Amino acid sequence: MNRTRSFAAYNKNADIRVLSSSGGIFYVLARRTILEKGVVFGAAFDHEGKVRHQACETTEELPIIMQSKYVQSAMHDTYRQVLMALKNNRKVLFCGTPCQVGGLISYLNLFLNGENWRERLVTIDFICHGVPSPLVWKRYLKEISGDRKATTINFRDKTNGWRDFSLKINFNDGTQYLESQKKDPYMRGFLENLYLRESCHECRFRGIERESDFTIADFWGVHEFLPDFFDDKGTSIVMTHNDRAVQLLNEVSDSLVICEIDSSIVEKTNSPIVRSVSMNARRDEFMKNMSTKNISETLKEYTSISFINRVKRRINKIIH
Ligand SMILES: Cc1cc2nc3c(=O)[nH]c(=O)nc-3n(C[C@H](O)[C@H](O)[C@H](O)COP(=O)(O)OP(=O)(O)OC[C@H]3O[C@@H](n4cnc5c(N)ncnc54)[C@H](O)[C@@H]3O)c2cc1C
Repeated sequence: MNRTRSFAAYNKNADIRVLSSSGGIFYVLARRTILEKGVVFGAAFDHEGKVRHQACETTEELPIIMQSKYVQSAMHDTYRQVLMALKNNRKVLFCGTPCQVGGLISYLNLFLNGENWRERLVTIDFICHGVPSPLVWKRYLKEISGDRKATTINFRDKTNGWRDFSLKINFNDGTQYLESQKKDPYMRGFLENLYLRESCHECRFRGIERESDFTIADFWGVHEFLPDFFDDKGTSIVMTHNDRAVQLLNEVSDSLVICEIDSSIVEKTNSPIVRSVSMNARRDEFMKNMSTKNISETLKEYTSISFINRVKRRINKIIH
């Protein structure tokens, strides 16, 4: 029997929802762990705009590890930190890509086999399109920043709504970069699979049933399947993979607007849950060329923005 259950949900707290990339589910589960004196691990930007996993022990710190960062997050010694926290009898919540959660569980099994550590650990993964190469992000951020320094970065700013999210970067001189995912060259390259890790195209961590306790995602089809849950501020899918996760979700459900849905809806509206995305046919060519050229221009050249422009230019030439 299928033990995975799926829910549509969003956080009742409007401020948390604005701050979160989707419906703010990660925050409620993380807050619960912190209130129980536990430690929460998630992905954060460092002072250079690189992404790495980091621990948080207070609710005030949580915004650092909230929000989707469309870059591979470096683990450094995170697995060891999780191990030490569990050995010290602390509760731990770890959120990461499905492969990062899989890696963590394998690692802990090596060192903690036989102990009752699973009861103290909660794992959350998300439906993962794939992770972009950190080198592409490093070069793009450097180029966009110029002489300025990025102070905050949000890949999922909701100024123009949850569905048409934007990349927003604030700089130390008070200036700001804000561009829709439909136009920003980096986001276009990500969504067109131009520079995901090669392994993401044959990911073996996909599937409905998972080793993690929870899977979270965007409920992109919500306006069709559950119009009452759609207000363009962010609605999530939450999947529970075992009885303990159902119990935990029950315990935080007062903070959520939530309703159970059929898991087949998740597969219909969010195919990366079961299928790896196809590699862009020009990926290898792009990866070779991007190191020698201006990255924004190269990205534009290789994504559909330029394709549409090229077609328009050709049509203009024929007409005039
Ligand atoms: C690389 C990537 C690919 C994604 N692909 C899909 C997809 O195909 N379909 C879909 O519906 N949603 C996708 N998501 C978005 C994911 O669904 C949302 O992060 C999640 O729904 C946000 O929920 P929230 O509002 O509850 O949490 P938020 O508060 O926004 O928290 C997001 C959580 O994800 C963690 N996280 C953020 N970036 C990374 C990273 N680079 N590596 C590891 N952990 C990270 C954070 O630490 C935090 O715990 C993707 C996110 C990322 C980072």
